[in-house]
Amino acid sequence: MQDIQDPGPARAPLVMVSREDCIAAGECARIAPAVFDQDDADGTVLLREGFTSADPQLRKQIRHAVAACPAGALDLVEDD
Ligand code: SF4
Repeated sequence: MQDIQDPGPARAPLVMVSREDCIAAGECARIAPAVFDQDDADGTVLLREGFTSADPQLRKQIRHAVAACPAGALDLVEDD
């Protein structure tokens, strides 16, 4: 799984995506559009720039997207 840290505070949870596992279903971009995008060419997941997973509302959306992804291609690594 590709490991990508968003540019938020140092202790912000790590958002991880695997473009290899992604099947381009688009659930993540629908649920958390400020965080996830889809590649125009093949529909696979992309992380947007500028969001912070430290934002409670975004974190909730990210958790929802992780649970909804049919390919298990997303993860959110939280300390607590
Ligand atoms: S929900 Fe999962 S399979 Fe669908 S685009 Fe996002 S990462 Fe890919």
